[in-house]
Amino acid sequence: MREIRLKARAKINLTLDVTGKREDGYHLLETIMQTVALYDGIYMKKLEKPVIKLKTNLPWLPTDARNLAWKAANLMRETFGIKEGVFIEIDKRIPVAAGLAGGSTDCAAVLVGMNRLFGLGLSEAQLEEVAGRLGSDIPYCIRRGTVLCEGVGEVMTNVAHPCPDCYVVLAKLPVSVSTASVYKQLRWQEIEQHPDTKAMLKAMEEKDVAKMGKLLSNVLETVTIELHPRIAKIKARLMELGAEGALMSGSGPTVFALFTDRAKARKAAALVKREFALKDCLATRTYRVRRELRGEHNND
Ligand code: ATP
Repeated sequence: MREIRLKARAKINLTLDVTGKREDGYHLLETIMQTVALYDGIYMKKLEKPVIKLKTNLPWLPTDARNLAWKAANLMRETFGIKEGVFIEIDKRIPVAAGLAGGSTDCAAVLVGMNRLFGLGLSEAQLEEVAGRLGSDIPYCIRRGTVLCEGVGEVMTNVAHPCPDCYVVLAKLPVSVSTASVYKQLRWQEIEQHPDTKAMLKAMEEKDVAKMGKLLSNVLETVTIELHPRIAKIKARLMELGAEGALMSGSGPTVFALFTDRAKARKAAALVKREFALKDCLATRTYRVRRELRGEHNND
């Protein structure tokens, strides 16, 4: 195999709770992650020269060691003694610094791509282990689907009854939010309202999107909404437009809203985009990973 194309999909957090803090300062999480269909296109090609070349459609995005996709290729070359180089082209469609794990998912896709391109034969569990060395959301981006993530994100449990198929509006304010600074400002011991993770798992088992909508909850909203109050306004507007529920994803600033009706979701995305003058506002859907069908990991 000389070249490969992959889809690096975004994620949302249906619930996000902070349950404590480790001695090294990292917060302990309990979060239900869900893959959505929106993806960055990844193209990879073997090079004879021992170099990593990266190109993206966003001129301001770093294409050197600061890019997580570059780091993924570099770690795989070093760890597995790959002599040849690789060219990677990323068509970024996932908004950057948005709480949608755009960088992490590109990174995971490149790990998958290196495994296939160079015939390394690593299992998904082995890829997840390598991913954990690069960042806390990256093992999840290898696994994908509906997953309960604990610890700092690396303790993963596949949810037995995954999220029912539904439509998702993603609306991002034109501001960048640093995940590290949100966690730094979080007074987690003072949080009064914690997500009910068990009830969310039950609602998914019952395939009850309306119930899921009411249970969406993210403790990081306490920090990011204070910084950007328009997040609350976007949530309220999406509810008026027929969403079953709306929530900030990750550390923000993207708001997502769940819909059972495709036409309603598309209309809501168009209206919110116009009313809030957003560049990034679109309708997508939840993405289901068919684990039973998956042989070799191929990021379909
Ligand atoms: P998370 O939800 O994991 O916190 P995020 O969606 O908030 O992630 P990213 O889109 O991953 O944030 O971007 C965070 C930072 O990572 C940006 O400032 C960007 O410069 C850097 N970065 C490195 N590699 C990439 C990449 N391949 N795509 C996007 N951003 C990248």
